[in-house]
Amino acid sequence: MAKNLIEVEHVKKYFPIHKGLLNRVVGNVKAVDDVSITIREGETFGLVGESGCGKSTLGRVILRLQSATSGAVKFNGRDIHSMSSKELNKMREEMQIIFQDPFGSLNPRFLVKDIIGEPLKVHTKMSSSQIEKRVIELMELVGLDASRRNRYPHEFSGGQRQRIGIARAIALNPKFIVADEAVSALDVSVQSQVINLLMKLQREMGLTFLFIAHGLNVVRHISDRVGVMYLGKMVEVGETETLYANPLHPYTAALLSAIPKPTPTKKRNRIVLQGDVPSPANPPSGCRFHPRCPFAQEKCSQVEPALTEVLPGRQVACHFPIGMEGGSDLNSLK
Ligand code: SF4
Repeated sequence: MAKNLIEVEHVKKYFPIHKGLLNRVVGNVKAVDDVSITIREGETFGLVGESGCGKSTLGRVILRLQSATSGAVKFNGRDIHSMSSKELNKMREEMQIIFQDPFGSLNPRFLVKDIIGEPLKVHTKMSSSQIEKRVIELMELVGLDASRRNRYPHEFSGGQRQRIGIARAIALNPKFIVADEAVSALDVSVQSQVINLLMKLQREMGLTFLFIAHGLNVVRHISDRVGVMYLGKMVEVGETETLYANPLHPYTAALLSAIPKPTPTKKRNRIVLQGDVPSPANPPSGCRFHPRCPFAQEKCSQVEPALTEVLPGRQVACHFPIGMEGGSDLNSLK
């Protein structure tokens, strides 16, 4: 098994809520609340959950684009949250991000060659002509016409702009990339082209990805393992195919049941989630999912379930995992 490239240990990210004339702290939005995961070298770890579950915040904390309230994030065994800014700057070359919005993340006043070449200008001593040569290589690598490098981002389509963002992210030959909702703003047909491009780059460059998306349908094709987040907590982690075939957590089952089936005649036990996601400033007691869970029992509102390995490579935070002995039964929802 490949070694761990990223180790996230008990990471919390709280945002203080200020109120009143004295701007007192009256509470915290617990965006990420005690999350631990590992990402192996060369794998794609898909991270899913509804808006506001903390997945993008976790991605940013892993890259130290935001500080952690507590906990550690290790890259190749070294805690990036205790690095000096000089060490961090060096580390940044190895860790990159692709943003959700290909329209908003590219400076509209910069030529495409300057956008893609910017990391090379900042982090290397390459001459302008060397940078231009590398930009041409990068554009070809991501399937863009390099003769259009002297144009502005608005002259490109949404999918092409995301390719520009990808070219910029791989310019320094990073080891690890966080793709934060990288395909969410794109049409479905363009989504699969960009996902295929990311998979090709992973094979060719040995990249490791944290691929963040809000739906399980998007991450399936690209991910080796998937983690499901709910209200700041990791509720299930597993190998992609086994997690999709047999979800253990009712929330994972609900997300899966929301994916349209290619064969609509084939019946499935649909879990329709009631209500909205509660506020992360005031999460429910016990299991945070209990007000929306069709299998909730008394214990669920009182005792918080810990993320536990219940099968080899399968972790779940639920007192009554689906299909396990003494657990919940999807057929009871018929
Ligand atoms: Fe549902 Fe209880 Fe499991 Fe939470 S612990 S997911 S409420 S069954």
